[in-house]
Amino acid sequence: MRQTKPSPKKSSPEEEKIKIGVIGTGYVGLVTAVCLAELGHQVIGTDVVREKIDLALAGKPHIYEPGLEELLKKNLKKGHLNFYHDLDKTIREADVLFVCVSTPQLPDGRADMSYVEGVSRRIAENLNAYKLIVEKSTVPVRTSAWIKRVINLYRHNDQDFDVASNPEFLREGSAVHDFLHPDRIIIGVESKRAEKILRKIYARFTEKLLVTNIDTAELIKHASNSFLAMKISFINLISELCEKTEADVELVARGMGLDPRIGPQFLRAGLGYGGSCFPKDVRALIHIGEEMGVDFGLLKEVDRINLRRIRIFVDKIKQALWILRDKKIALLGLSFKPETDDIRNAPSIAIIGELQKERAYLRLYDPQAMENMKKLFPEKEPELVYCQSPYQALEGANAGLIITEWPEFVDLDLNRVKSIMSNPILIDGRNIFDPAKVRALGFEYYSMGRK
Ligand code: NAD
Repeated sequence: MRQTKPSPKKSSPEEEKIKIGVIGTGYVGLVTAVCLAELGHQVIGTDVVREKIDLALAGKPHIYEPGLEELLKKNLKKGHLNFYHDLDKTIREADVLFVCVSTPQLPDGRADMSYVEGVSRRIAENLNAYKLIVEKSTVPVRTSAWIKRVINLYRHNDQDFDVASNPEFLREGSAVHDFLHPDRIIIGVESKRAEKILRKIYARFTEKLLVTNIDTAELIKHASNSFLAMKISFINLISELCEKTEADVELVARGMGLDPRIGPQFLRAGLGYGGSCFPKDVRALIHIGEEMGVDFGLLKEVDRINLRRIRIFVDKIKQALWILRDKKIALLGLSFKPETDDIRNAPSIAIIGELQKERAYLRLYDPQAMENMKKLFPEKEPELVYCQSPYQALEGANAGLIITEWPEFVDLDLNRVKSIMSNPILIDGRNIFDPAKVRALGFEYYSMGRK
């Protein structure tokens, strides 16, 4: 007699292999998709920009991020990872949806939540089974309540769903490493079901989990970024005072950082913070505070100090060259920090703008970010030229500016640099050189918060 197999019981996402959809495959989404696949999950990434999906399917990240391409190729090959152009299909096929779309700054400082709202509506329209919607984008506290309201307003059925917050803490330049070696994973949930699913997704990192309610998780992200920005502005303010005295900000920072209550990180004086997170997250938190009647004057000052860094730096260039018109100035580093091609809110953008106003001739070099910068400042000979190496940029220059602390600049052959520059003047916005050594080689040298 033929044995009939029992018909397979329909299992819920917390029991079977979880299928994850990642919506928005930018810096965070692509890393999230690739790393979740690396953890062994079945992942589909999707984005509104077709080219990003075409490139991802071809195993080529559209961003520069160390280690990403290798893991992307590996997981595509293993079949753990796929990319769809179709958002609706992604939503319908996935059990868990990680929302990784941008939340950029509006002119008044608020976070623009229209992409999150748009995705929430599409989720509502495609709610074909229980879904867990995970906010990975950085969002203002109380966003989950809005997402739930939007889904309830636009859905066509009474399918169950949960919203959770799982803010992302990766740092561009070490994003893959950060994702796979987290200090902490914050999970904001309001149902046991959501908690169980997220615990399963992050099973490899159980000891790193901090489970909170959703408001708390949302606020942890804004509070963390604002605190780090505050540390940077604090040391930059001290650096302003160092410049008026004989104190050396690097040593002040070292002395402070030896206190374990303070710690040495984020105490580098320089051109201030940039990037797609700190400036907008500080302003978003100021705004959230205003909306809720909490005065974040402290963070307004953090922002003001940060904006002042560009003027202080440009003043140093003027101090060295007096008149900038027709001077050839080499800018080394365009990305907002090393090991990334991201130029969003990079100090280089404001500096280029200031130098263009003064009609200087600019020679630009960056190991990864030149293609992005060309979209903002197209090449125009002889005023603005992109160079193939730092040496090409410095050739015949009246001054060289260090704007991003790429290791390649730390390792420059300074004897060679001196021999090719018209005037051996270095203005170091990131304090990468030892003043005594550089001056001993014959340079005129300016840095931040040090004599
Ligand atoms: P990004 O601009 O690189 O990526 C966002 C992606 O979302 C883009 O590729 C965009 O095309 C896509 N997108 C927009 N609307 C969409 C839609 N309706 N459907 C599908 N895709 C859509 O931004 P990012 O740097 O990855 O940041 C994303 C979020 O993560 C932001 O909230 C940011 O604050 C936060 N975050 C960023 C970092 C970081 O270092 N970049 C770190 C932690 C958190």
